Amino acid sequence: MSIETSESNILHHDRHGQYSQAVTIEDIRQNIADVQKRIEAACKRSGRDPASVRLLPVSKTKPEAVLRLAYAAGCRWLGENKVQEAQQKSEGLADLADLKWSVIGHLQTNKAKIVARFASEFQALDSLRVAAALNKHLQAEGRTLKVLVQVNTSGEASKYGLQPEEVADFIQELPQFPALRVRGLMTLALFSSEIERVRQCFVVLRELRERLRGNLPACVSLDELSMGMSGDFEVAIEEGATIVRIGQAIFGARALPDSHYWPSTH
Ligand SMILES: *Cc1c(COP(=O)(O)O)cnc(C)c1O
Repeated sequence: MSIETSESNILHHDRHGQYSQAVTIEDIRQNIADVQKRIEAACKRSGRDPASVRLLPVSKTKPEAVLRLAYAAGCRWLGENKVQEAQQKSEGLADLADLKWSVIGHLQTNKAKIVARFASEFQALDSLRVAAALNKHLQAEGRTLKVLVQVNTSGEASKYGLQPEEVADFIQELPQFPALRVRGLMTLALFSSEIERVRQCFVVLRELRERLRGNLPACVSLDELSMGMSGDFEVAIEEGATIVRIGQAIFGARALPDSHYWPSTH
């Protein structure tokens, strides 16, 4: 299997056939080791410490049996895009007491209660209504939640997230919601094989963070930049990613098209 690295000028988001299914612990261990090596190489190129990049395995669409293999291979965090799928899996795997869940997909207000109950991280905050609903239900549960604000850096109408110019005002409102521990920004780059256009999305997120940092409410920090997926994580690391969300390169191709997760045009 050979995936182009960012040293080439082409990215391949659509090479689903290149990601073979992980069916054993050893497959998952090997895939994680391969991804980790590529993370380290990208860090080296950009003068960064590999310990500053967290690999979040994304297990959406994969069955619980495969998630158990990931746990056995050492994963203690899993990312899921859809709340109901994540909740079902968290119940099915409740015996794995130290397994934590990161919800990385758009949330409807009426599902905030579910997230407040089981998730340890939510990466796709993009409205005050959702913030208020999460805060209310978290307080009822006596919990807090690590949160990232999702930003639309690609300009694609189909993508979720705040527009970059909306984020400053949004963040000033967040101290109203003390159960939310706001720690950074998240984005999905453009789906394009043109590496410089993809890179530009990551640059927008990093530069936005730098601009906002001068004027943050005391309870908000923006240390985390969650950006980069199987097809583009090396570019994201070169631009400052502290969390990369990797599904297919660890677990194998998904049966469902990505349009199921991002109502989109491609
Ligand atoms: C599915 C998903 C990913 C991982 O994508 P892969 O191509 O499988 O690496 C990352 N972020 C979000 C928000 C996702 O829904």
